[in-house]
Amino acid sequence: MQTSWKELCSAVQGCTRCPLSAGRKHTVIGEGDLHSPLMLVGEGPGEQEDLTGRPFVGAAGQLLDKMLAAIGLDRSRVYICNVVKCRPPQNRVPQPEEMEQCMDYLRQQFVLVRPKVILCLGSTPSKALIDPQIRITRQRGQWVLRRGVWFLPTYHPAALIYDSSKKRDSWEDLKKLRAKLDELSLYPDREGESGNAK
Ligand code: SF4
Repeated sequence: MQTSWKELCSAVQGCTRCPLSAGRKHTVIGEGDLHSPLMLVGEGPGEQEDLTGRPFVGAAGQLLDKMLAAIGLDRSRVYICNVVKCRPPQNRVPQPEEMEQCMDYLRQQFVLVRPKVILCLGSTPSKALIDPQIRITRQRGQWVLRRGVWFLPTYHPAALIYDSSKKRDSWEDLKKLRAKLDELSLYPDREGESGNAK
């Protein structure tokens, strides 16, 4: 039987499956259009996300908003979440065991949202969802089709803040994303719209 959003939220909020539960202030499940054709998956909550319980609200989140606007979208039109729902200490990369424990919730989110396209923001979601051996610097921007769902690995917005030379590649990936959404007619009211995230 399929889990409901209410059951999923309740399970995550009370979850102690992995050690990340010990240091969290809030769990961060995700937000946006619960039936969006496009899902964005990041690594895990940072400090601001842990404080607010919302995904991508810090500096990286503000850049993500600009990136979405550049392809004619905003948060209300997509669904945004992370691989792990609790903040890793000092924003370290989640351990494989932590991701494994939390992956069940992400799988349930896939079932509930039923996205047609998934943008993997950074190495962690790309490894968790596409290929554990993926090299984000080499394989970003390359589409992968799995069970009827298109996956696109790209840089995490935080990586663009630390290294602005990655912005050009990121913009190329965003244009590929926009083209795929148009090709699949997933946002017919936005077709052809695009700007520049720089
Ligand atoms: S990170 Fe995921 S598995 Fe670990 S405690 Fe939080 S919700 Fe549970």
